[in-house]
Amino acid sequence: SLPVLEAEHIRKVFPLHQVNPFARSKGVHAVEDASLALYPGKVTAVVGESGSGKTTIARMLARVYEPTSGTLRYRGEPIKLSKSSSHLREYRHHVQLVFQDPFSSLNPVHDVRYHLSRPLKVFGHAKSEKEITEQVLALLNRVSLSPAEQFIQKYPHQLSGGQRQRVAIARALAVRPEVLLADEPVSMLDVSIRLDILNLLARLKEEEQLAILFITHDIASARYFADETLVMYAGQMVEGGPSEEVIQEPKHPYTRLLLSAAPDPDRIKEKAGSQLTARGEIPSLINPPTGCRFHPRCPSAMPVCKERFPQRTELGGGHWTHCHLYGDSANAPLITVQPAQ
Ligand code: SF4
Repeated sequence: SLPVLEAEHIRKVFPLHQVNPFARSKGVHAVEDASLALYPGKVTAVVGESGSGKTTIARMLARVYEPTSGTLRYRGEPIKLSKSSSHLREYRHHVQLVFQDPFSSLNPVHDVRYHLSRPLKVFGHAKSEKEITEQVLALLNRVSLSPAEQFIQKYPHQLSGGQRQRVAIARALAVRPEVLLADEPVSMLDVSIRLDILNLLARLKEEEQLAILFITHDIASARYFADETLVMYAGQMVEGGPSEEVIQEPKHPYTRLLLSAAPDPDRIKEKAGSQLTARGEIPSLINPPTGCRFHPRCPSAMPVCKERFPQRTELGGGHWTHCHLYGDSANAPLITVQPAQ
């Protein structure tokens, strides 16, 4: 099938005065040259640590930020990057964002019926009060909040974190989107209910043929849930392909590092680990390292890695990476250190 939403070579540089008025560089290079495609009935995961640019990607696809350069396509047509409100409203009809924090995404003074009826009214899916109530109840059933008749009149403070995230997902579904952009949808939830929410999203993907972008720091949950996995480091996409390939046969040293910090698929049930930070931090994106941004942390770094960002190398079966260890640059001179006698 054809992609619903595509990003081609999108970049985002935030002007620096928004970040630090005293710094000298031209901006924060949050995303460099990222491309991806979202398909109906498929989940695409973008995996990375905080500061990798993954949330910026979701926000560019949601049109919260416009890309500095590059193209977004909806059903093959380039999207005009105009901020006119009718244009954006039409876009949100197709593409909805689900936020990380279900505690701040719902307004505490309004009940569940209010939260779900607003998009129904704004997007013209229901007119009479009776119609609205019927559709709100149906939405609650779709996200397995039952008995729906009870949940419809609850306020956010009467709901658990998982129930709130279900309401937030139902609100996104109310506009009948084709694409859900889920930015760390389970990372703020209790570990015991993360799988339930991922299973709900997996069911929606299957039953409603939604295209889902799943932003996560947890490569174990990508393995569990995503058809395609893309790995980002410091604003650069470094590896991608079918999740099985990327996770069973990781090629990029950073993907390997991520996986070594999350060796067990059951880790999704645990709290996010902090092993990675022991090995270094994501560099500043104000003055990012030259070439491959991973070179200061990479155990296999070569001189060429500081010079140039590697070309994309196709590894077969849709699996690719940007790393000088593969493809043409694999012949670049390698400095080997002789073991001491
Ligand atoms: Fe390491 Fe070089 Fe590959 Fe970057 S390009 S991951 S520094 S080997």
